[in-house]
Amino acid sequence: MGDPRRHIPRTDLLLAEPPLADAARVLGQALVKAAVVAAQNRARAGEIGVDAIVEHAIATLPPTASTLRPVLNATGVVVHTNLGRAPLSASALDAVRAAGGNTDVEFDLATGQRARRGRGTLAALADVVPDAEAVHVVNNNAAALLLCALALADGREIVLSRGELVEIGDGFRIPELLAATGARLREVGTTNRTTAADYAAAVGPDTGFVLKVHPSNFLVTGFTAAAGIAELATLGVPVVADIGSGLLRPDPLLPDEPDATTALRAGAALVTASADKLLGGPQAGLLFGRRDLVELLRRHPTARALRVDKLTLAALEATLRGPVPPVRRAIHADLAALRTRATRLAEELGRRGVEVTAVDSVAVVGGGGAPGVELPSAALCLPARHAERLRTADPPVVGRVERGRCLLDLRTVPPEDDGRLLEAVARCT
Ligand SMILES: *Cc1c(COP(=O)(O)O)cnc(C)c1O
Repeated sequence: MGDPRRHIPRTDLLLAEPPLADAARVLGQALVKAAVVAAQNRARAGEIGVDAIVEHAIATLPPTASTLRPVLNATGVVVHTNLGRAPLSASALDAVRAAGGNTDVEFDLATGQRARRGRGTLAALADVVPDAEAVHVVNNNAAALLLCALALADGREIVLSRGELVEIGDGFRIPELLAATGARLREVGTTNRTTAADYAAAVGPDTGFVLKVHPSNFLVTGFTAAAGIAELATLGVPVVADIGSGLLRPDPLLPDEPDATTALRAGAALVTASADKLLGGPQAGLLFGRRDLVELLRRHPTARALRVDKLTLAALEATLRGPVPPVRRAIHADLAALRTRATRLAEELGRRGVEVTAVDSVAVVGGGGAPGVELPSAALCLPARHAERLRTADPPVVGRVERGRCLLDLRTVPPEDDGRLLEAVARCT
């Protein structure tokens, strides 16, 4: 009679408590009910008080109805593929939220007629790359390459250098992707040297296009030679340039990184790129180039299977039109400012009794881009044993373990997240 564990409130009564009812409106009934049942079980086991069931259930609820958790990227890898590549700007996130409901993505509000899908996004791309006669957006850069192969080289040959048979990551290889379309790959040259004459000897009536792939995630140094787009553009067949990381114009900080504008000016008939690497936008594949070829791609039957949704179109347009997105802010962040942030955070943590120092560090672009580029940076340095607790903290903080130390690199943490980083570190150590 006296044991309060016998008097666990009923699940339906608990779910009617205002904080849990509010949570169910955001998260759905099933998630909240599971948290309530778990809390009831803990009360039954005597692990928590009967009075604490609601509070405990609320504390264990996930922040959203998705299992994807926001993470602080303190790895020093600016475009971290496993952490979702480019973080969207606040402006892109606002655009996604606004477009998330019904939106005029394919509708002209003035005339009440159907309109070109994503026209605002296409106009923004054309404004940034005026050298392109036409632009198109697909699901990702791999899809852009796939569409080129399907539409321009069906049953024909794609001529490419043996030095550019690139594996993107996670076992995905560009030559295998292209071969899967039924196009034949005509490999020319060698791993380290391929000349314009090698391409010229292979080009013929069966050539669909010549493909230049930027070897974005590795460097070939020493006795090397590669033919430029300008030379290949004289061979009488379209040159498709996969520039990879999505710089649309040259960036003086990344002098070896190809960009769409330069590739088009050199004579590329089409340029393909990712939108979620150096451009700092949502996952998408960008295609720039000759109007007739872009039209062929757009009208190809498979184009529909590769098209992007309204959320991507919204985020991409806002990335192009809005303030500098986080990826580019991170790449261009001033070293002195990074060191100042590291020193301030270390001092504040020191006052709270946390054993941490501010150190210099080296960040990288990542995402299979700019492999030789080192970005001098500043980091918080903790004993390596803290890495796991930080990773499983709320919010999770993912650092870099290096020579027995856990480094939290500030180049990849937006300054506005310093407070959250500080609290997470203080709680974990
Ligand atoms: C990243 C990359 C790709 C693949 O792009 P996704 O947008 O991930 O499909 C293709 N080619 C190059 C050169 C790349 O760097």
